[in-house]
Amino acid sequence: MTTETVLRADAMLTPAGTIAPAELAFDETGRITYAGPPRSASEVTHDLAGHALMPGLVNGHTHSAMTLQRGASDDEGFMQWLATVQGIEQRVTHDDLVVGLELALLEMIETGTVAFADMYYWDEALIERVRSAGMRVFAALACNANDDVAFPSVSSLTGANVLDEVERLATKYREDPLVRVGFGPHAPYTCTPEFLREVRERALAGGIPIHTHISESAAEVAQIREQYGETPGNYLASLDFFDAEVHAAHCVHLTEAEVAVFAQTGTSVSHNPVSNLKLGNGIAPLPEMIDAGLKLAIGTDSVASNNSLDLFEELKQATILHRGARQDAAAVLGPQTIDIATRGGAAAIGFPDSGALAVGRFADIVAVDLTVTTATPLPPENLVAHLVYGATGRDVREVFIGGRHVYHDGTHLTLDADAVREKARAARARLVG
Ligand SMILES: [Zn+2]
Repeated sequence: MTTETVLRADAMLTPAGTIAPAELAFDETGRITYAGPPRSASEVTHDLAGHALMPGLVNGHTHSAMTLQRGASDDEGFMQWLATVQGIEQRVTHDDLVVGLELALLEMIETGTVAFADMYYWDEALIERVRSAGMRVFAALACNANDDVAFPSVSSLTGANVLDEVERLATKYREDPLVRVGFGPHAPYTCTPEFLREVRERALAGGIPIHTHISESAAEVAQIREQYGETPGNYLASLDFFDAEVHAAHCVHLTEAEVAVFAQTGTSVSHNPVSNLKLGNGIAPLPEMIDAGLKLAIGTDSVASNNSLDLFEELKQATILHRGARQDAAAVLGPQTIDIATRGGAAAIGFPDSGALAVGRFADIVAVDLTVTTATPLPPENLVAHLVYGATGRDVREVFIGGRHVYHDGTHLTLDADAVREKARAARARLVG
């Protein structure tokens, strides 16, 4: 006999639209067994009156351990920002990465994120922190070149060693529903063509995904044009890079032809509007990417260029930014972006069973408080608009991931929040001063 956990709420966002009032149930496998109107015979486990249920948000691109660098370079512009954060990265220890990651896990869970794509230094110890917190991660191990040591104060692994490590970890976690491991070649302007070719070959041979940055800044596009005579996307296409499964961050300066290549090859993109705006890099062609049917996610990028991991802010920006830039209120619509931030993002980063409150999907559920002033008054038909334009991460009260209750009424159930914040303050003081 199966044991169901049953949630009741005022409203619920499902692929079929908003249901109000609503009931959702999942079993001990962590998958949803019912999502619909309240059933008369149910024994309610969690009475969430005054709340709406929505699928957990998916962060399409971040570097989570960089939480310790929040505010390290806020007004300097992209290339100087990069130099500042990379300077700090030469001093980080493994303990710093652990506490930086845990601080990010706190923030993501508190603001309703259940899965994230991350490019940084990753090893088993760090992956296990994510698993013990109960979150889902697509962990891409950052690398630049065969003989380059990306994190010298953490590990002596060269780029060549990192490629071996990715293959080992990808094999180890292949069946794990919380973990995907991939290659993280930083960007076409920091990696050699030979290195990118090798990553591609290994990705194809091992069925391992790649996460990389593409066309983030105009300076990058100019540099790649000068070096290779192509825009970054076309240059990578000339290496047959997109034969592999590639998830690309930013794509601010993607051309129409490149968007078509991405659509043809199934290459996914994480749109990160706040980071792109803060670093002065521009506005990605999101409406064109939507029209072309690209696999899309919405991401925050690291807090060093944001300064938050709250995807509700990103969701609003991704919706209204393109309207203002094009003087067209229909350029991007709220139902489109919330779909990208949940179902679309989950599929783009390799967790297709997350992202929707529907039978058979994982119970990756967020409960948002509807009793707050900013949600008053709220007719049920306005739920999507509220989640896109009005709600913030501070409205999140409950989070379940794969049926595991990880956050309850402001309290973390899988992390010692006070201890993590205390350790983070000490690490930051030592690292940045
Ligand atoms: Zn990034």
